[in-house]
Amino acid sequence: MRPKSIGFRLAGWYFAVFACGLALFSIAAWFAMRASVYHAIDDELRDRVRGVKQFMESQIASLSLPEIRDEFREHSVLGPGGDLFQVCDQQGQWLYRSVPLENANVPIALPGVLSAPTFQDKQIDRRWLRFYSERIIVNGKPYTVQVASLMNESYEALERFRLILLLATPLLLIASSAGGYWLSTRALTPVDDISQAAQRISIENLQERLAVPQTGDQLQRLSETLNAMLSRLASSVTRMKQFTADASHELRAPIALIRTTAEVAAQKRDRPAGEYLQALDEILEETERTSQVVDSLMLLARADSGKGIVETVLVDFSAIVRSAADQGEKLIRSRGLTFSSQAPEGPVWIEADADALRRALLILIDNAAKYTPAGGSVALRFAQQNGRATASVSDSGIGIAKEDMAHIFDRFWRADKARSREQGGAGLGLSIAKWIVEMHRGSIEVESEPGKGSTFYVHIPLKR
Ligand code: ADP
Repeated sequence: MRPKSIGFRLAGWYFAVFACGLALFSIAAWFAMRASVYHAIDDELRDRVRGVKQFMESQIASLSLPEIRDEFREHSVLGPGGDLFQVCDQQGQWLYRSVPLENANVPIALPGVLSAPTFQDKQIDRRWLRFYSERIIVNGKPYTVQVASLMNESYEALERFRLILLLATPLLLIASSAGGYWLSTRALTPVDDISQAAQRISIENLQERLAVPQTGDQLQRLSETLNAMLSRLASSVTRMKQFTADASHELRAPIALIRTTAEVAAQKRDRPAGEYLQALDEILEETERTSQVVDSLMLLARADSGKGIVETVLVDFSAIVRSAADQGEKLIRSRGLTFSSQAPEGPVWIEADADALRRALLILIDNAAKYTPAGGSVALRFAQQNGRATASVSDSGIGIAKEDMAHIFDRFWRADKARSREQGGAGLGLSIAKWIVEMHRGSIEVESEPGKGSTFYVHIPLKR
C-alpha cells in the first residue's frame, strides 16, 4: 500500500467509519440482548409470585401452616426456577422458606416495610441470583413473597454473545477495509493509466492524445478535458514557433541589408563623401524600420504574456479621435492624399487607455495612407449607436481581396509582401490594433472592395 495513494486514504476512511459503526452496533446489540434477557427473567419472576398468590388464596383458609409448607414444597419443586422462594407474614413468621435460601439466610423485607415490588441481584455460594420481592394481600392479611432465579446461564449466554461480538468485529473490519482498498484501487487504476500516458507527452510529441475510455463517467470526462487542453497547448506552441520563425525572418532581412550597405561602402576607400552619406542614410532608414519591428514584437510579446499594458480610465473618445486625426492628417497630406475627419463636439465617455487607442487608430490611418495611391482620399468618421462608439477609417485605395480578408489581422501577414515591405510594413500593425481594441472589450471590422477602397471600423462600448 502506498501511504499517499487515494486507495490507501479511502481504505483508511472506510476503516474509521466502519470501525465506529461496528463499535456502536456491537454496544447497542449487547445492551439490547441484556435488556431482553432481564425482561424475560423479570416476567417469569412476576408470574411465579402471581402463582404463589393464587395458591395461597385458594388454600390458606383450609390448611394449617405445616400443610401449607408441604404443599408449597411439593408444587414449587416442579415449577420453573425450582423452589427458590420464601414467604413471610406481617410478624416475620415464615410460611415457607426454601432450603438454599434458609441456608444462606437471605433476608426478606416485612410486608409493612416493602412499599413497592423490588428486584435485586445477589451472589450466593458462587451462584448469581436475581430476587424479586412483592407485597401481596391474601384474605385481608399482608405477606411478602420473594422469588429468585438462577442467573448463571443467562450471564454465560451474555458473555458468549460478548465474545462473539469482540471476535467478529475486528474480522469484519479487516475484511471490509481490505475490500474497500481493493475496490478503490481497482476504480483508480484508470487514473494511474491516464497520468502515465500524460507523462509521456511532452513538447516534442504534443500531437499525441490520451486514450478516451467510453465509460460516460468522470474518467472519460477527465481524458477528454486533458485532450482538449493538449490541443490548445499544441496550437499555442505552433503559433509561438510560427511567430519566432516569422520574427527572425523579418529581422534578418534589414540586418542583411545594413550589413551589405556597410560592406559595399567600406570596400573602396576613396569614395566621394556623398556616396558615404547615401550609404549612411540607407543604413539609418533600415535601422529605424528594424527598431519599429522590434517595438511591435515586444508589444505583442507583452500582450501574449498577459501582462496588462493597457490601463483604462474614464476618457473622452471624441478627443482621442480628434487627436488621431490631427496626427494622421500631416502624414496623409504628405503622400498627396486628401483627408477629411468628423468627430462629435461633446464628450463621449468610454473606459480606455487613450494612448493605446490612439495608436490603434493611427495604425489604421497609416495603412490607409500606405495602400491608397496618390490623388486618393482618406476619411475618419465617428458614430454612436447601440451603447457603443464607432470610429471608422475609410480610404479609396487598392482594397483587399475577399480571400485575404480572413488573414489581414494575422501576425506577419501581408497581401502584397513586396509592396508592404516597400512601405515599411512588417505585417504586425493590424494584429496590434486588433489586440488593443479587444483589450477595451471592443471589436474591429473591415469592409473592402478591391480597386475601390477599404473601411476599418473600431467599436468601443460606451461607459454608462
Ligand atoms: P503592414 O505592416 O504590412 O501594413 P498590417 O498588419 O497593418 O501590416 O496589414 C496587413 C495587411 O493587410 C497589409 O500588408 C495589407 O496587405 C493589408 N491592408 C491593411 N490595411 C489595408 C488597407 N487600408 N487597404 C488595403 N490593404 C490593407
